[in-house]
Amino acid sequence: MEVSTVCRNFIDAANRRDWQRAVLNLNGLNMYEMLRALKALDTTDITSLRAALTALGGKVFGARIEYALSVVVNGTVPATAPGDLAATGQVTEARRFQANPTSILIELIPAAAVTGYNVGLSSAGNATMQARFGAPRTTYSNQCQPVTNATLSRRMVTRSVGPFRVTGLDSAVISLTRIMANIATQQRLVYRVLGHQGMACARYVTGSHTAISNHSWGTAIDLTITGVLDARGNNQIQFGLHLIADIFNREGWFWGAGFRTEDAMHFEAGRALVQTW
Ligand SMILES: [Zn+2]
Repeated sequence: MEVSTVCRNFIDAANRRDWQRAVLNLNGLNMYEMLRALKALDTTDITSLRAALTALGGKVFGARIEYALSVVVNGTVPATAPGDLAATGQVTEARRFQANPTSILIELIPAAAVTGYNVGLSSAGNATMQARFGAPRTTYSNQCQPVTNATLSRRMVTRSVGPFRVTGLDSAVISLTRIMANIATQQRLVYRVLGHQGMACARYVTGSHTAISNHSWGTAIDLTITGVLDARGNNQIQFGLHLIADIFNREGWFWGAGFRTEDAMHFEAGRALVQTW
């Protein structure tokens, strides 16, 4: 479901370590979002948040937040619930979360609600890619195969981009390193749970027998959040991917959420950018 504005404000404040503002926003969340928002914090964040909670005193419903913290941090639903939590279904919500404790960063939001991305960018089609770098190989399947084009192969590097190591085109890896550094400072909650499911991989586009995937040139990457891959084509997008899409766009990378078949896990160097490589 859509992530509320108050929850987005909580994530913003937590990213900036403005814990007082974070607590005030947290206080306004329903139990569903409160639990999942807290799950996006690490132990250092939780300590800071608890300190801000104490400092705010009676300005928030502290017992309710403590209840949620107990569920998230200890994995236990307290035997007694404060106030009207039991009567309003919040205890049931806490038990549901306990059975499947997921971060708000993998909450699925409707693709239709995600707008304003890929502005002025276009994906680099096969003709553009072949003209720029040549064909990675002569035959393809739906599985990863080695690049056989010697010139292109020489440009494939394996390197850390910050949160993980990738194998990709040299220029794409440099650009991706810059993107990751920006994610680390602007979206640190996402950064620390970011993983990937492959960059260079010479194959067809999933489901196609003609279109070559840009992974074949090592200029695309598929990302995971908390180890979870966003399902392709279901028109639902992990919240965390939405949070970092703008950072990719600013470096000239196209977000796969904008493909005809929604592919939100996928980011690739856009047409204008690859023409400079
Ligand atoms: Zn991909």
